[in-house]
Amino acid sequence: MPSEFSGKHVTVAGLGVSGVPAAKVLHGLGAHVTVVNDGADERARTQAAELEALGVTVRLGDGAASDSGSAAGLPEGTELIVTAPGWKPTKPLFTAAEQAGVPVWGDVELAWRLRGHGGRKAAPWLAVTGTNGKTTTVQMLASILDAAGLRTAAVGNIGVSLLDAVTGDTEYDVLAVELSSYQLHWAPSLRAHSAVVLNLAADHLDWHGSMEAYAADKGRVYEGNQVACVYNVADRATEDLVRAADVEEGCRAVGFTLGTPGPSQLGVVEGLLVDRAFVEDRHKNAQELAEVSDVNPPAPHNIANALAAAALARAYGVPAAAVRDGLRAFTPDAHRIAHVADVDGVAYVDDSKATNTHAAEASLAAYEPIVWIAGGLAKGATFDELVAGAAKRLRGAVLIGADRALIREALARHAPEVPVVDLDRTDTGAMPQAVREARRLAEPGDTVLLAPACASMDMFTNYNKRGDAFAEAVRELGA
Ligand code: ADP
Repeated sequence: MPSEFSGKHVTVAGLGVSGVPAAKVLHGLGAHVTVVNDGADERARTQAAELEALGVTVRLGDGAASDSGSAAGLPEGTELIVTAPGWKPTKPLFTAAEQAGVPVWGDVELAWRLRGHGGRKAAPWLAVTGTNGKTTTVQMLASILDAAGLRTAAVGNIGVSLLDAVTGDTEYDVLAVELSSYQLHWAPSLRAHSAVVLNLAADHLDWHGSMEAYAADKGRVYEGNQVACVYNVADRATEDLVRAADVEEGCRAVGFTLGTPGPSQLGVVEGLLVDRAFVEDRHKNAQELAEVSDVNPPAPHNIANALAAAALARAYGVPAAAVRDGLRAFTPDAHRIAHVADVDGVAYVDDSKATNTHAAEASLAAYEPIVWIAGGLAKGATFDELVAGAAKRLRGAVLIGADRALIREALARHAPEVPVVDLDRTDTGAMPQAVREARRLAEPGDTVLLAPACASMDMFTNYNKRGDAFAEAVRELGA
């Protein structure tokens, strides 16, 4: 069947998780596809061979991803670029595209444009972005939609890829879509049914260039929303983004709060999650959705995630009972405030996924007293605010990793009486030692919390491995 892509010269920038499926789909739609990719390692060569066998042109070691002006320009005849989301907008390839009037789309934009292709049902998108809590919220949302009997999936940055979801054989009623700031940057025409920005804290600023640019890209998720723009009452910046958005007539701003909800908000009243937005006469009425104890785990930031997920589900018309059932059925992914074990009356909690200070702040707020295991790669972060906020809940701290001095100095400034163990080692034995030191500092009733506030790559392959090492060390304590 002819498509708008038939005969079109499309350059796919970057192989990998988004590039390979994009190239295949576009080729299948009749486009002349050229893939450019900087690296030429074994994985790239295998992927290239697979695409070339289909008739796709692949230029490995192309220099297109380079940040320098000497990079290869736009491939001859390019009419559209589909880029991997992580490619920085400042690359010469994109400057050349702009000069030539060639549009640049990310994988999300391509998926958005392909909705409904080939006579499939174009499922609406309920979109989730924010600095932290995206994956958890999207999974909670999918669980709620599922409990309502809807055909759905958690897609985007997680699980099923968006392209697969819109072009595959499975039909969906509605999709729960996780979107990163990079993906939003490259998705100019995305128009979600409803969306949420969970929170906004400095992250990825080297990519976006400034906090304003980062916020503006997150705010794109609200553009053209049809039913509800959901924002965090405790995070003013998210509400400002709703105000700045151009939405469909009749679309509402709906807040979520851990306090008592006002009209057009969801919140918490006496241990219950309550809806005062999607009810008749919201000035007088409220609808009970679930108990706080239905949220797993019921840490404050996770209750906020549950309220955000509930707001999107309610915007889609899901009944209250499905919110409760969906939240009950939900179990969080590994390494997100996961309770590993109790040893001698001390709880050991793995929040290895707390890779930045904003995330660590949320998990430190959830326990008291805490023996905190922290450190790793700081990615330019500062720790004063985090440490000052958590100081009174800290029993002690054990520091690991390359940038631990930054945290040690912040502790000296804001929590000088808190005992600190500074582990000057980065070998595989470091985590067991950190856990043993934490045990020494802890008293019955305390929580030993791995919430590093840093990336893991100085010591581990990724945050999963760091969390696994922690859990293993805790098991050794109990043995
Ligand atoms: P993302 O997909 O945005 O990285 P996740 O759901 O994977 O988010 O959670 C990552 C980490 O962020 C968690 O381990 C937790 O420490 C923290 N976190 C989760 N939800 C929130 C929230 N609403 N506010 C602040 N931090 C959060």
